Amino acid sequence: MDQLCAIIDAQGFTKGNKFYPRVIAVAFPFSEKILCWDVETGLDFKSLNSKDRITNNYIRHYTGLDIKAPDDAIAKDKVNVFLAMLYEQCKYGDQIYFGIKNPQFGNLLNYLHIPTLEIECPSTSALGRYYDIKRCDRHTENPEGACSVRKVELIKEYLDDKIMCKHLINSKY
Ligand SMILES: [Zn+2]
Repeated sequence: MDQLCAIIDAQGFTKGNKFYPRVIAVAFPFSEKILCWDVETGLDFKSLNSKDRITNNYIRHYTGLDIKAPDDAIAKDKVNVFLAMLYEQCKYGDQIYFGIKNPQFGNLLNYLHIPTLEIECPSTSALGRYYDIKRCDRHTENPEGACSVRKVELIKEYLDDKIMCKHLINSKY
């Protein structure tokens, strides 16, 4: 965990088992800075087959996100370049891993040769009981929907506290 440059998460929709990010969020260890971006999925319900429509309807309810991104979102065909550039901006020294807790998004990052570490931590709902962190305002379809911005901040708070505790324990002896 000492080698994390950032904690990253994405939420998105699917078509034929392929993941299309809709929101990307990043938090940094021991920093208050949280970044997030909307991404155009290029998907619309009308053009999906019934299986994908059912899956995406579930995702829409679970996340509360609209499948259609705002006009200023990152274009669908630029998202891979964007992620590669983001990684180049975030990594420094020995801190070369993006921390993730999202296998589907992890697959996309690994496909882009971005090194990732799977973070072991309690679930977002469990962490949400310890840290009072609000959702972003994108969850128009369900105000209680799962939020990537909140998720990366919860994980960041958890990891910061864990590292602080480790230093406190170590400094006693
Ligand atoms: Zn959100």
